[in-house]
Amino acid sequence: MPATIVSALKDAQRVVITTHTRPDGDAVGSQLALGHFLKGQGKDVLMVNQDACPYNMEWLPGVGDIQLYKGSLAQVEFIAKADLAIVLDTNAASRVGTVGPQFKGTSALKVLIDHHTDPESWFDLMYRKETASSTGELLFDVFEAWDLDAIDYQVAAPLYVAILTDTGSFRFSSVTPRLHRVVAELIERGSLDVAELHAQVYDKKSREGLQLMSKVFSTIETHFDGAVGSMVVSRRFLADTGAPVEETEGFVNHLLTIEGVRIALIFTETAGGTKVSFRSKGDYHVHKWAQAFGGGGHRNASGAFIREPLEQAMKKAINAAPRYTSVQDEDQESLSAEDAAYLSSLMNSQN
Ligand code: 5GP
Ligand code: MN
Repeated sequence: MPATIVSALKDAQRVVITTHTRPDGDAVGSQLALGHFLKGQGKDVLMVNQDACPYNMEWLPGVGDIQLYKGSLAQVEFIAKADLAIVLDTNAASRVGTVGPQFKGTSALKVLIDHHTDPESWFDLMYRKETASSTGELLFDVFEAWDLDAIDYQVAAPLYVAILTDTGSFRFSSVTPRLHRVVAELIERGSLDVAELHAQVYDKKSREGLQLMSKVFSTIETHFDGAVGSMVVSRRFLADTGAPVEETEGFVNHLLTIEGVRIALIFTETAGGTKVSFRSKGDYHVHKWAQAFGGGGHRNASGAFIREPLEQAMKKAINAAPRYTSVQDEDQESLSAEDAAYLSSLMNSQN
């Protein structure tokens, strides 16, 4: 209930807020909006994360106030002596990285505001809805129950970005009439220039990033009668183009624009293994599939990290589709030997 959260927030003076590792727009947008709102209400606020903001979020108002967690005396003390410790946009200690043990160990009231499935049990107070489009949408409920007039540009702009990015620019099935009303409030109260905000988030790609995109798109394969699409970001592609891996954000969604593709997978090769992002449409749920590989997330957007080299990870993940999704196994090898050979020739070829 937002009212319960609001009264806990009103009673608190020292509030620490964190979010997940490799934060996205919903994570930092929500964190900045809540942090600024609480400062406006006279609270002492520490925003602290394991990882830095992505390059396309660095312009957000107040972003310089987010500290990287270094385990400094000041940070450890603030967290230990906080009244409230709030986790946004994830629900597991491991997903907040190095900040996790401090949060679990503090005597503060532990609060979760989130829209993921299966929260861990160490939170004292939760405001969560799996059907919510974003953590940003849930925060709006909190602000609305407290004081709508306190929503200024510094609250509205990051909250708008949180919702924008987690809804694929207002197009996912999580978007409701109510969400559009929320967004209308944000635009009015923050006097937002929506075209400018969209450009700040999405039109920051480099030429190298588009070259990377062209290489990654050349690896597109479909499996299971065209229901599953995959693409690959190899370390060689990154090295050859010089593009930062953050610029692969959003590539996977293009797979879902192929007619018939219901599930999209992007495999990113790293030194320690392979990161898999799962995206899907409608009733083709992917979170159990991601969980089977040690990850998790939402029904239509999940992720996992497989500690295996690219090709093995791909084979295992793709072949497991029928076990965890409504994709039918048509008695066909999902990643054929030819597909695998083609992919590996692409990835090993020089430029
Ligand atoms: P992405 O594919 O963009 O990294 O993540 C999509 C969604 O899956 C996010 O909402 C994120 O919370 C979740 N997710 C991504 N990677 C992991 C992971 O390794 N473990 C868990 N539990 N969730 C993940
Ligand atoms: Mn989110």
